[in-house]
Amino acid sequence: MKYIFVTGGVVSSLGKGLTAAALGTLLENRGLKVAFQKFDPYLNVDPGTMSPFQHGEVYVLDDGAETDLDLGHYERFTNTNLTRYNNLTSGQVYQKVLDKERRGDYLGKTVQVIPHVTDEIQNRIHQIAEQSKADVLITEIGGTTGDIEGLPFLEAIREFALDAGVGNVVFLHMTYVPFIKAAGELKTKPTQQSVAKLREIGITPQILVCRCERPLNKELRQKISLFCNVAYEAVIEEIDVEHSIYEVPLMLQRERLDELVCKFLHMEAKVPDMSHWQDIIRKLIAPQHRVRIGVVGKYIELNDAYKSVYEAIIHGGIANDCGVEIEKIESEEIEKFGPDKVLKGLGGILVPGGFGERGVEGKIIAAQYAREKNLPYLGLCLGMQIATIEFARNVLGLKGAHSTEFDPNTPHPVIALLDDQKQVSQKGGTMRLGSQPCQLAMGSRAAHLYGAFLINERHRHRYEFNNAYREKFEQAGFVFSGTSPDGKLVEMIELKEHPFYIASQFHPEFKSKPNKPHPLFKGFIAACHTHIHHKPL
Ligand code: GLN
Repeated sequence: MKYIFVTGGVVSSLGKGLTAAALGTLLENRGLKVAFQKFDPYLNVDPGTMSPFQHGEVYVLDDGAETDLDLGHYERFTNTNLTRYNNLTSGQVYQKVLDKERRGDYLGKTVQVIPHVTDEIQNRIHQIAEQSKADVLITEIGGTTGDIEGLPFLEAIREFALDAGVGNVVFLHMTYVPFIKAAGELKTKPTQQSVAKLREIGITPQILVCRCERPLNKELRQKISLFCNVAYEAVIEEIDVEHSIYEVPLMLQRERLDELVCKFLHMEAKVPDMSHWQDIIRKLIAPQHRVRIGVVGKYIELNDAYKSVYEAIIHGGIANDCGVEIEKIESEEIEKFGPDKVLKGLGGILVPGGFGERGVEGKIIAAQYAREKNLPYLGLCLGMQIATIEFARNVLGLKGAHSTEFDPNTPHPVIALLDDQKQVSQKGGTMRLGSQPCQLAMGSRAAHLYGAFLINERHRHRYEFNNAYREKFEQAGFVFSGTSPDGKLVEMIELKEHPFYIASQFHPEFKSKPNKPHPLFKGFIAACHTHIHHKPL
């Protein structure tokens, strides 16, 4: 087993997760089996209870774990299988250590960060290494070198490397080489200082991946090599990508990162064939068609809040050789200025998941607009609940229809709390979570798109369609195209007399990949493209 540890310095948001994932793509294409894990130094047990503004999207795995969005990168870029054990937070480590202490497992010893916390972290590395049966395990350490919270993790990987032995571990450090306008120069000092910080705690990175806005010339590479004690060829440039994050694997391949890693880890592996990936990039850079999609949400300012949704839309574009321009629409704008103004010129509307009342009315107006104007609509989770409320109010004439999440006293609770959610008071990890089977209706558009009748998709919600209203809806042409296999829970809906009006209670975006676009997104983009083609706006 070989180990790659990815750390980051200078600033956050350098794209460590993306780089780790892209390196995984290259190693997989060399025929190696790659596993991933992410360490997050914060004290939350998982990101499930954090605001999207704080932490971006919560990425849900098949087993229902609510994890960091970097795990989304790992799944999108590779074939790796992730479970809740692939994302370890300080909160989980301390919870475990404290449980053990209370049980008396430490036999009266003083419980300390070293060795008890660091041992617990190392145990997890061993556990994932064993379970994964992979050739290489890539471990990303969240946060920035120099942060207090990150120290136990760095100490743990230092000790781990000592035991694993020479040639089995490589430390890859990501840094930032800023361009200072006034000087007209790229500056290496922050990189030197962040490497010094790592060396202070006993970690000497063998590879530096330098994020930069401009190319690193030979002199700069030599300088970084000399001052950071890293081989010249191990100073890797990762320049800002022009078009898409999916360019990163090809960029790193040009810099020979995968070759270097194999050399450090004494791994013999064939040269990767990345032609399929090049084809994806071609479609992203020079697509045959173009379309503009409106995503109506409430965390629009923050790019990371709907990460997987945006990526899945792009994948749907790749499947149709269609460039997508995503217009991020704050739903409160629709409430303020009206749909005609805000939603004009779109090829389709997507309403993603969400919690809380703010912006809900704007989303309902958007769903109505899409339904009435025959504009393609894709609703995800809350987006399905919104479509239901809109239909109840404006087609069935159920005045004041709502979800009990937003109006507990609504006269028509068309969306209501799931039975097994009624007693729940704890917040973390208590929703209906993870992969669930769904039966698709014969003759439905959903079944046609999936090319299957039984599918599995990931969930994260508390509320559901209220079955007391099923008949009324059905009579008016609202199709329940997907349900749980026992027929009790509505999982998908669609409208018969509409070019494309589909919504799901689950989150299909978590299972889409650039080389395996999700059928719902593929169908949605195809419909949006057809829509503008036949009806120029
Ligand atoms: N707030 C809704 C619920 O809990 C929708 C959740 C979501 O969109 N993920 O059911």
